Amino acid sequence: MGPLRALHARGRLHPELTAALTEDSALLPQLVRALLDANFAPSLHADICQMVGLDLEDAELPSHVSDEFGRRDPAFRPEVLEAYEFRCAFCGYDGWLDGVAVGLDAAHVRWRTFGGPDDLGNGICLCALHHRLFDRGVVGLADDRSITVSRKYIARAATSRSLVLDLAGRRALEPQRGLAPVDREHIRWHARQVFRSPARAA
Ligand SMILES: [Zn+2]
Repeated sequence: MGPLRALHARGRLHPELTAALTEDSALLPQLVRALLDANFAPSLHADICQMVGLDLEDAELPSHVSDEFGRRDPAFRPEVLEAYEFRCAFCGYDGWLDGVAVGLDAAHVRWRTFGGPDDLGNGICLCALHHRLFDRGVVGLADDRSITVSRKYIARAATSRSLVLDLAGRRALEPQRGLAPVDREHIRWHARQVFRSPARAA
């Protein structure tokens, strides 16, 4: 039993906050949005809301609040996708639709909410599936930029195995020659803070 449980510790919202939440129905989604932006990678927001039963579709933060979290550099995504030649660095996925790459993301290795910069040394091109699994700590990177897969992740279907389990130990694709690969400092942050260790044997 945890120490707080042993003491029968209880928590509650400050009465003024409870009153404000009752009065203003827009406040709850705004608070949730602010907490998500401040603490979690964007690719995880929908999963977290679903887990706790919240629908945040219309929750926009007032601009003075959203400015605090900093604007994304619009050049980050095209820079990362081009560096990796529009391929997922983990599986090689490279789909296009009407002349536009589809299903590919520029993932931050160190989350922006934890000081991760919008630069190539902190970016990696991943398909939507591997981006989500990277942010959930299912897959990660080792110092030599080989792919790690969490031992806690379980998959039985052949597709899940080939898309995820078979990546263990494989080298992630590097960016074009002469461009910065993912910085080891950011890889180590992800390994410590996000990846669900231990890693499976390669
Ligand atoms: Zn992929």
